[in-house]
Amino acid sequence: MLDIEGLTSHYGRIQALDGVDLTVGEGELVALVGANGAGKTTLLRCVSGVQPVTGGRVLFEGKDITRASPHTRVALGIAQVPEGRQMFGPLSVEDNLRLGAVRRKGPKVADDLERMYERFPILKEKRRQPAGTLSGGQQQMLAICRALMSHPRLLLLDEPSMGLAPLLVREIFDTVARLKEQRTTLLLVEQNAHAALGIADRGYVLETGRMVLTDTGPRLLSNDRVKEAYLGL
Ligand code: ATP
Repeated sequence: MLDIEGLTSHYGRIQALDGVDLTVGEGELVALVGANGAGKTTLLRCVSGVQPVTGGRVLFEGKDITRASPHTRVALGIAQVPEGRQMFGPLSVEDNLRLGAVRRKGPKVADDLERMYERFPILKEKRRQPAGTLSGGQQQMLAICRALMSHPRLLLLDEPSMGLAPLLVREIFDTVARLKEQRTTLLLVEQNAHAALGIADRGYVLETGRMVLTDTGPRLLSNDRVKEAYLGL
C-alpha cells in the first residue's frame, strides 16, 4: 500500500533521512523504531506531506505522491496522529471527534461516533467535556479515534505512548493491536521498541537517518543488536 523508495529529507543543511526504503502492505502493522533524533518523525511527515522530500519517492497504492499536497494525501486516505496529540482543548470530546469527519456528512458520522464510543466507553462518558480536561491516555485515544473518523486507508501513528504512565502505555498498545485486528493498515513510530515490535507484523530500525535493519517483529525482538541498543538487554 505504501512504498517509500530511497527517501531523503533535509532541514536546511542538516540531512534527516538518507536513502530510506520502507513498505507497508495492506492490513499490515509496521513499526518504525529508533533513538531520539533518528528521523522517525521526519519520515512520517514526508508521508503525510508536511515535510519536503529532497530525494527518492513516496508511492501510495502505486501512485507517486512525492509532490502531492497534504490535503490530497488526506483525500487519498492517509491520516496522521501527530506526536503530542494536538487536540482542540477547549472543544468537547465529541466536537473533536466530529472534526475528524469534516470531509464526510450525514447519518454515517453518527454511526461512527457510536462505534468509537463502543470501543472507548470512557470517551462516551466524557463526550461533553472539553478535550483538554482528559488525561494523557484518554487524549491519545481521542486523537486516534479522531483520525479513524476520516476512515483512513493508512493510519500513521507518531509515538502514541509518549509521556504516558506504564498502565496507559499497555492500554494504547492494546488499542493499536485491536485496530490491526480490524484490518486497519498502520505505520507506528515508537521509541518504545519492545512494545511496538511486540505487536508489529514487521519492523524497521532507523539510525541517524539510515535504515539499518528490517525483519518481522518477533525476529527483531530477539535480534542481538536490537536487544542491546533498544531493549536495554
Ligand atoms: P524524536 O523521537 O525525538 O521525535 P525522531 O527519530 O522522530 O526523534 P526527527 O524528529 O525526525 O527524529 O529528527 C531527525 C533529525 O532532524 C534530528 O537530527 C533533528 O535534530 C533534526 N530536526 C528535526 N526537526 C528539525 C527542525 N525543525 N529543524 C532542524 N532540524 C530538525
